Amino acid sequence: MPQQVCVLGSTGSIGTNTLDVMARHPDRYRVFALSAMSRVDELLAQCLAHQPRYAVLPDAALAARLRDGLRAAGVRTEVLEGPEALSQVAAHEDVDAVMAAIVGAAGLAPAMAAARAGKRLLLANKEAIVLGGALFMRAVEQGGATLLPIDSEHSAIFQCLPEDRDTWHQRIDHIVLTASGGPFRQRDPATLADVTPEQACAHPNWVMGRKISVDSATMMNKALEVIEARWLFNLRPEQVKVVIHPQSIVHSMVVCRDHSVLAQLGTPDMRVPIAYGLSFPERIESGASMLNLLTTPNLSFEEADAHRFPGLHLSWQALRAAEGSTAVLNAANEEAVAAFLERRLRFDQICRVNRETLETVAPEAGEVDSVEGLLTLDARARRHAQDLISSRSATV
Ligand code: NAD
Ligand code: MG
Repeated sequence: MPQQVCVLGSTGSIGTNTLDVMARHPDRYRVFALSAMSRVDELLAQCLAHQPRYAVLPDAALAARLRDGLRAAGVRTEVLEGPEALSQVAAHEDVDAVMAAIVGAAGLAPAMAAARAGKRLLLANKEAIVLGGALFMRAVEQGGATLLPIDSEHSAIFQCLPEDRDTWHQRIDHIVLTASGGPFRQRDPATLADVTPEQACAHPNWVMGRKISVDSATMMNKALEVIEARWLFNLRPEQVKVVIHPQSIVHSMVVCRDHSVLAQLGTPDMRVPIAYGLSFPERIESGASMLNLLTTPNLSFEEADAHRFPGLHLSWQALRAAEGSTAVLNAANEEAVAAFLERRLRFDQICRVNRETLETVAPEAGEVDSVEGLLTLDARARRHAQDLISSRSATV
């Protein structure tokens, strides 16, 4: 029987890559549900191609447009509306696997629902684990879910480790996440104030959604990945290290207790981690091109410069602060990136908003024990960041 897969955030970069891999294996995977935020025409085209049982949109007006299109095409997909519907389809008893590919904190609730329902959970949505932290990992354990990292670095680490998670702790000395350095690796840091959203979104090695592209340019993406790795692999903050590797061929490394170093290599193509998430512990064809070492540019590694990338170090700062501080950092960053994309904040001010918010908004007792508490903390941090953004000339 093919596995029934929910693809949450199906119109995004990870979502479309997931559908691409699944379409290569119609005998193994069926699309159970799709979801989008606003792009109804793209979601309609996906429904026509994959004929899912459900499609989810945020409100009634968008849902009505999709229903009209489906009716005209004679497709029987049922359209659900509102954020709760995402959790409903993610936890549906007929679902085997959930691809969590919504961007931002909005993806936490459906990812938690999939975790609690014991699904195979393919986690691309790093903000969900940065926000959810220990609570998220407890939901995975208590629900009996299989958590599979989709972020390429974390998939690399996962691929370097044995299937038996109980042995991970014993064998890992530390891990090294590689970072491309983004589009401004060699740009004079003094000129970063002038960066436009278009320049920030032009990543040298990967084509991705706008939010993660800006995060890659500020290195906040790597900061979020440090926090993500801490939770996925149950590491101490100092066991997660970062090195710049501009070619994005070595996707990350595990340094073992005996100092043997295990690395995973490949062309930069998200279909590899997606295919592994879908097929683990087996391997399936992904559509990615083969790595040719003879034509690959020389692999190089550089230290991550704290002056050039001040945002990176906020990850360790947040991990060492009170539990919940990583949620504060994530919320500030989501607000700062949105403001930058709307040209309300300068590129070089993103990190300052993040640091200020992290150092000012303190998690309160009990806030980290429930999704509701975390979302209250998230909202508080967002308000603080918004105040900083609107009064940036005075305070930032
Ligand atoms: P994207 O912007 O291309 O797509 C985001 C998807 O989420 C879209 O389908 C959108 O409709 C949906 N969405 C956005 N806001 C929503 C909301 N409030 N409620 C419901 N749905 C919403 O983003 P992406 O690049 O595909 O990234 C998705 C996630 O995967 C992010 O967390 C990102 O950090 C992570 N990730 C992406 C890549 C990549 O190569 N693109 C790599 C690693 C990790
Ligand atoms: Mg990554």
